Amino acid sequence: MSKSISITFLLCLFSAFIALSKPTDNTASATATFIPQGNAAAIMARKQVPILCYHQIRDWKPTDSKTNRDYIIPIAAFKAHMKMLADSGYHTILPDQLYDYLTKGTALPSKPIMLTFDDTDLDQFEIARPEMKKYGFKGVFFIMTVSIGKTTRHYMSAAQIKQLSDEGNVIASHTWNHSDFRKLSTAKDWEIQLDKPTKKLADITGKPIKYFAFPFGVWNAQNLPQLHKRGFKLAFQLSEKRDANDPLMTVRRILDSGYWTVKNLSNSIRHSF
Ligand SMILES: [Zn+2]
Repeated sequence: MSKSISITFLLCLFSAFIALSKPTDNTASATATFIPQGNAAAIMARKQVPILCYHQIRDWKPTDSKTNRDYIIPIAAFKAHMKMLADSGYHTILPDQLYDYLTKGTALPSKPIMLTFDDTDLDQFEIARPEMKKYGFKGVFFIMTVSIGKTTRHYMSAAQIKQLSDEGNVIASHTWNHSDFRKLSTAKDWEIQLDKPTKKLADITGKPIKYFAFPFGVWNAQNLPQLHKRGFKLAFQLSEKRDANDPLMTVRRILDSGYWTVKNLSNSIRHSF
């Protein structure tokens, strides 16, 4: 295993792969037994905004496995994908806009899209940030707070996270140490994985932290109230079906695969949402 790839990242890849490969039964049973009412039904009825998810942005190494390469987008591919989005007239939106659109029907710019980045990787600051700036794009950075400042392992520092926030990007929570959300249960778990990371990120950015992404993209309906209770407005998963009873806490995203051409990406944006 390459030293530059963290164990957390590999775990993330593996679990996300499993999650994408077969639908989890907790999702199916949660949606099957609820009849969406009122607001949830209206939210489910709105067209989904395409949301892309990125992890590492770097050139492949011989040691990167086939599966990992879905989650590592080579630099030239990332640049080509951003250019395609700009040339095609896409406009990046941020979570506040998505929330207002979903809950109130507030208008969005034409061809809206959201760019999201998980796991605190330094590539996101060094490669994605300048590339996005060329086109006036903004993004959402889901930070696992345990990795902040671990520069020896290629993670962003608190100062870089603050800079992203100051430049108009959104900083959001991805737990403390990338724990499986479905397995959290005690008061201590919630304090460590939600409350403390929220405080830390709010202290770094000077802004409230209102959005969350599930580690590995996995979630269960039973634990969603813990997010509501703490005032999170939206939570982001990967590409499973949304919980029809709680679509704001199960917003869908797709991985922009390292294997995709610009045409693959363009087709996926149009057909996956
Ligand atoms: Zn992650």
